[in-house]
Amino acid sequence: MHENLLVLGGTSEATALCQALSAAGIRATVSLAGRVARPVRQPLPQRVGGFGGVAGLVRYLQNHAITHVVDATHPFAAQMSANAVAACAAARVPLIALTRAPWQAGPGDRWTHVPDIAGAVAALDRAPARVMLAVGRMQLAEFAPNPQHFYLLRLIDAPDAPLPFATCDIVQDRGPFSVAGDLALMRDYRINLVVSKNSGGTGAAAKITAARDLGLPVIMIDRPAIPARPEAHSVPEVLAWLVHSGTDRGV
Ligand code: NAP
Repeated sequence: MHENLLVLGGTSEATALCQALSAAGIRATVSLAGRVARPVRQPLPQRVGGFGGVAGLVRYLQNHAITHVVDATHPFAAQMSANAVAACAAARVPLIALTRAPWQAGPGDRWTHVPDIAGAVAALDRAPARVMLAVGRMQLAEFAPNPQHFYLLRLIDAPDAPLPFATCDIVQDRGPFSVAGDLALMRDYRINLVVSKNSGGTGAAAKITAARDLGLPVIMIDRPAIPARPEAHSVPEVLAWLVHSGTDRGV
């Protein structure tokens, strides 16, 4: 059988998968949303930009004779992941998600769980604090209701719209981050509250460990719901799935 994979990417796990696919000589294309100005170079052919919803993704799968889809997007990319479930079902293309376990609070963690960004915004309706706001670039405008805080933002690219904060500082950097580096950053900025998505994985975990070490409270944003789909938790698991999953398309 001649595989022709589509990898939905934008994470370090997707890059690791692409490296393994390239090394194994498996034909595949990686898809990026186009949010980052200079994305990490991928060892596979790459396409950039949305597909145009479920219908657009179905067309893409058919026009490119895709045999398998691996959804290796970030756990908060819920729209893309839901679209992949619907489109793969419609086009009868096998789908697997490469996922990472959420972080779990352990001894010393001072987490408040909130269900979504709106929950984090509501939890920030409090006396002024020095907040490390680690939620990426796309949803910063939603934090406008609480301009009383100092916000430390760590972003890959500079924001393309004016920020709704009176006092904030931007550190432009790209993970993976180290605990020592994040401890120093939080101390330098006298951070006393961290807001984070529960991304899971290792690349972004340093801030959570650093917050624990410093005894800082964390507003932890729980993951969005995604329709059920088969999941793998490692690159070898995805490769094993590829061997065993045929396709209804008879490719
Ligand atoms: P999202 O809200 O689930 O997706 C919104 C739309 O963006 C999708 O409907 C799709 O447009 C397009 N899109 C998203 N991912 C795509 C991909 N890999 N290839 C092609 N089109 C894509 O997604 P998001 O949360 O904005 O994430 C965008 C990208 O950033 C993903 O690749 C994700 O892995 C990465 N990322 C996200 C986060 C996060 O916190 N959300 C963090 C790190 C990395 P159409 O409907 O037009 O197809």
